[in-house]
Amino acid sequence: MSIPYIGRFAPSPTGPLHAGSLVAAVASYLDARFHEGRWLVRIEDIDEGRSVAGAAEGILALLAALGMQADGEVVWQSRRKQLYQAAAERIAASTYPCGCNRREIADSRLGFAPDGAAIYPGTCRHGLAPGRSMRSLRLRVPDQGADEISFSDRFAGTVTQHLARDSGDFVLKRADGFWAYQLAVVVDDFEQGVTDVVRGADLLDSTPRQIYLQRLLGAPTPRYLHVPVVRNAGGEKLSKQTGAVAVTAGDEAAAVAALMRTAEFLGLDVGGPETLDAFWHAAIPAWGRLLDRRGAMLRPDA
Ligand code: GLU
Repeated sequence: MSIPYIGRFAPSPTGPLHAGSLVAAVASYLDARFHEGRWLVRIEDIDEGRSVAGAAEGILALLAALGMQADGEVVWQSRRKQLYQAAAERIAASTYPCGCNRREIADSRLGFAPDGAAIYPGTCRHGLAPGRSMRSLRLRVPDQGADEISFSDRFAGTVTQHLARDSGDFVLKRADGFWAYQLAVVVDDFEQGVTDVVRGADLLDSTPRQIYLQRLLGAPTPRYLHVPVVRNAGGEKLSKQTGAVAVTAGDEAAAVAALMRTAEFLGLDVGGPETLDAFWHAAIPAWGRLLDRRGAMLRPDA
């Protein structure tokens, strides 16, 4: 059963962990444990404007209270900026300075990428207009026709995007000076040797851009499994402001209850465990049975 496997959970510390992120945490942990792989935790605090003081520590304490041990040191994106800088320099031939502001891009009315980012009309592709100065650093995507990226998601199946049409040239370094998530996540997954990304389906649409960056950087493309996003009764995606998972250290009953809700959402059949040990003991094989039930697509070793 054992295959080379390094997985990770990569929360953004923009608030306490909510039920949706816990699904990603548990799914990534179970997939790693079932495949006898390693499970890493990376704090994605690269967007320092959105990071909330103490949130990362709260997330790490919650993972510990739930009995989820990372294999190896937790890494923090805010301490790895030189890696992102070096990567951007390596692909400098594909990047260009962009002087446009949000309003100018929105005014071009090209529409929005699936994640809500406005599609860039290419204004600065061939150089900044006289008098304009650089705001952000953009990556040039291939022209239409050569811009198709397809991959096979273990849950969603084949996903195809046309980068020129669906995202346009995208930002690697933002106008506020922070490195963009798309670059940081690709550099970190590569640098940490991640073979398997298990995360929420809200990031499915970002994956083709990440695969394009991997190709430019000569990085292997990991296997992907995007788990469904948790929505509340009204059908809204649980944001970080709502549905925080509140489990304090030592409150084993609350920890097991939170994990049971997550297991139920994932469709895991774990019985009625009363301790954390019993929960994980039941959940790891239950994850394997879930993969079997859902067919070969979910098996990274298939
Ligand atoms: N940091 C991202 C989030 O919390 C997840 C990134 C990833 O798993 O690739 O939504």
